[in-house]
Amino acid sequence: MTSLPLVFDAPARARKPPRHLADLSPAERRAAAAELGQPAYRATQLATHYFGRLTDDPAAMTDLPAASREALVAGLLPDLLSVVRHAEADGGATRKTLWRGFDGALVESVLMRYPDRVTMCVSSQAGCGMACPFCATGQGGLTRNLSTAEIVEQVVAGARHLRAEGGRVSNVVFMGMGEPLANYSRVVAAVRRLTDPVPDGLGLSQRSVVVSTVGLVPAIHKLAAEGLQVTLAVSLHAPDDELRDTLVPINTRYKVAEVVDAARAYARTTGRRVSIEYALIRDVNDQPFRARLLGELLRTRLGTSRAHVNLIPLNPTPGSEWDASPRPAQDEFVSILRASGVSTTVRDTRGRDIAGACGQLAAKE
Ligand code: SAH
Repeated sequence: MTSLPLVFDAPARARKPPRHLADLSPAERRAAAAELGQPAYRATQLATHYFGRLTDDPAAMTDLPAASREALVAGLLPDLLSVVRHAEADGGATRKTLWRGFDGALVESVLMRYPDRVTMCVSSQAGCGMACPFCATGQGGLTRNLSTAEIVEQVVAGARHLRAEGGRVSNVVFMGMGEPLANYSRVVAAVRRLTDPVPDGLGLSQRSVVVSTVGLVPAIHKLAAEGLQVTLAVSLHAPDDELRDTLVPINTRYKVAEVVDAARAYARTTGRRVSIEYALIRDVNDQPFRARLLGELLRTRLGTSRAHVNLIPLNPTPGSEWDASPRPAQDEFVSILRASGVSTTVRDTRGRDIAGACGQLAAKE
């Protein structure tokens, strides 16, 4: 007797996180409330509690009849993420949270307080499939996509924490675990939930949201057409294909020129300056000739008015032989870029001592 080859076997279906209010558009929420045997307007009341008052506690929802509260909360505000632990750094200004999903998947978010803003750095996937060799998350591979609500909940949790001290989240960066544009529809829906006004969403400004990508060219074009005002960050890390093929392996599919052209299309469509991320790695990508190449590339292909370079001193990951560039090399890189007319800043690296800095978000569990 012959058996079917394994390749025809249906893949084991990963279970999905439970449905949550934040996964749904306002119209879908009303339909969901009706399915739960509730008047549709209860969906708006519930959304006001979640997005406006940051609460999912039925006891606090005194404008809802007690019987409706239980049904609505059970059906639309399930617990999605539970805290495994928090860690603080920078004198309490930086706070990293390790979360566990319904299926045990681990993700991290980081809250960073600055004098003029508070930024939440969120994960879009558990793990990441992009395999960049200098990034801790890239070493473990992809576990799964996060749902829209799992992404939003990281920000809501940060907002709840800040409310106790009278603060609020002003900025969100998709620079935690995962490649946001590889989880496209959920990430775009999360951006809408974060930026739609209360009670439809959290009411953040689109301009204070940054979506960071390795450079998935078709998805960049798609994002440009969404009519959003979010900032696109492109993780370039090398101006030449030969080196970028090794630092950002998806470059073997989407080359430097294509990625920069997509960034240009994004900038033209949205009117937003694109942020070019470049982790400075000692003796790997920090040579003066690469600074000149990068300046030339951005000047000619993107346009200096559409580009801002964000240099990130590499945060060495455990077991890697790579290190950050020495200060003099960094300074020279900055001056060469600026001399070519490209606006350039060096990012401060928060949370180094709690492994909460860029690229170090990898759960040790
Ligand atoms: N996948 C997305 C977003 C997540 S990482 C992206 O690649 O853009 C956010 C930024 O941190 C990216 O620019 C990434 O390249 C950078 N990064 C990753 N590991 C790093 C490390 N060890 N040191 C400095 N920056 C790092």
